[in-house]
Amino acid sequence: MYIAMISPECAPVAKVGGLADVVFGLSRELEIRGNEVHIILPKYDCMRYDHIWGLNITLADLWVPWYGGSIHCTVWFGFVHGRKCYFIEPHSQDNFFNRGHLYGFSDDTTRFSFFSKAAMEFLLQDHRRPDIIHCHDWQTGLVPVLLYEIYQHIGMHNQRVCYTIHNFKHQGATGEYILRATGLARPEHFLHYDRLRDNFNHSALNLMKGGIVYSNFITTVSQQHAHEARYTDQGYGLGHTLEIHQGKFGGVLNGVDYDVWNPEIDPLIPVRYSAENLDAKYGNKEALRDRLWLQKGFKPIIAYIGRLDSQKGVHLIRHAIFHALHSGAQFVLLGSSPEEAISREFSHLKHHLNDSPDCHLELGFNEELSHLIYAGADMIVVPSLFEPCGLTQMIALKYGTVPIVRAVGGLVDTVFDRDHSWKPLEERNGYVFYEASLPALEAAMHRAIGLWYSYPDEFRKLLVQGMRCDYSWSRPGQDYLNIYNHIRPK
Ligand code: ADP
Repeated sequence: MYIAMISPECAPVAKVGGLADVVFGLSRELEIRGNEVHIILPKYDCMRYDHIWGLNITLADLWVPWYGGSIHCTVWFGFVHGRKCYFIEPHSQDNFFNRGHLYGFSDDTTRFSFFSKAAMEFLLQDHRRPDIIHCHDWQTGLVPVLLYEIYQHIGMHNQRVCYTIHNFKHQGATGEYILRATGLARPEHFLHYDRLRDNFNHSALNLMKGGIVYSNFITTVSQQHAHEARYTDQGYGLGHTLEIHQGKFGGVLNGVDYDVWNPEIDPLIPVRYSAENLDAKYGNKEALRDRLWLQKGFKPIIAYIGRLDSQKGVHLIRHAIFHALHSGAQFVLLGSSPEEAISREFSHLKHHLNDSPDCHLELGFNEELSHLIYAGADMIVVPSLFEPCGLTQMIALKYGTVPIVRAVGGLVDTVFDRDHSWKPLEERNGYVFYEASLPALEAAMHRAIGLWYSYPDEFRKLLVQGMRCDYSWSRPGQDYLNIYNHIRPK
């Protein structure tokens, strides 16, 4: 099968969060299974160009219709660790993708609507037609709309779309001018409850809703979250739309790319290890302490790695730091936030804790350091308020770092409490708490830290059980292939 992945992110070249890892990891798995995958991305100025090989112009002149005229684009091709990637570079005064960041601009919906249009135009120009177009999140919600309303009538009638929603919180609500810009026009047709009209703001278009309505199949990134999106407020207003389209909606748990995230072969950690030579993990713990100026001693290290977004339970993260220090543990945080207030709060916190020899807050995005933290820490906290899938807990498990998580979304599907779970004892792998409250978090941390201090052999057993879990792409890769086969023309 030939699959075109249209995405705003791909690890490690253009990565903000888990979406980037998913696009890279899933593409690789699909290729291993004998399929051809082309990833189409915007050409951002802030990409990690050092991870792109053989970057070359593949199409010098792609004219993308936009409002009444068209925008001249250049399409580049390059390999990202073996993945075949196309990068669309528009030449316009709007300077869509040369902004130093991927997101956070007032015209984001315009930027990514343009990208969706350009990606479709590129596929139309290309002589080969994909069997499946797989697109992701609100940024590419217009892709299936454009396919069914425009492109299927001008040569793309055999293509089918799988649309994956990684985060319902950001839906790309925008104005009807996008219809004019992209050539969809007909506001009376599209601004209808059955199509793109936002379920709450009746004068707004909702790009994610368009993706749901027009795709052949929609997935979100865990079964638990598929349920939450339909039946709780975590669908952020799209629950009823999902209900209407339930026959083509399901949850597929993300995988982890064990070629990238594997302590046995990871080139970014100083000492490699496996469940069979676990003592080597502690070489990484020492290296982490050296790197972050933490004092050495008989204490566990608890980590947090992730975006500092309200979704992640910022108040619980802050509390976890103080509770860890209070309970005889060290704490390492690696995170960044595009939100000014949260960013300021954590800068203050960093300043406040600057002299602590047991704590380090690293504010920023640092892929290399994240590997060392996964390897060097003993536990990781993931106290999210909502978490569609969550990769950090699955990566941590592979590195023998025990997750302490809140029971929400994909965390429910992947972490099983050591003391209370329906899973057999030998399949449990971490600690789970339910309420998004300080006492609930404390109780789970207390149990984890207590086991580390009082029953080290039991703690070791628990982390080895975590390392043996298989959250690779093998199973989800097959699940996606089944979906593709289900929707492609017979
Ligand atoms: P989300 O997609 O909501 O951001 P996930 O848990 O699905 O959360 O994925 C987060 C991914 O991004 C993981 O690979 C994690 O290691 C990485 N990550 C998040 N923040 C940082 C950071 N500040 N530095 C390095 N890697 C980060």
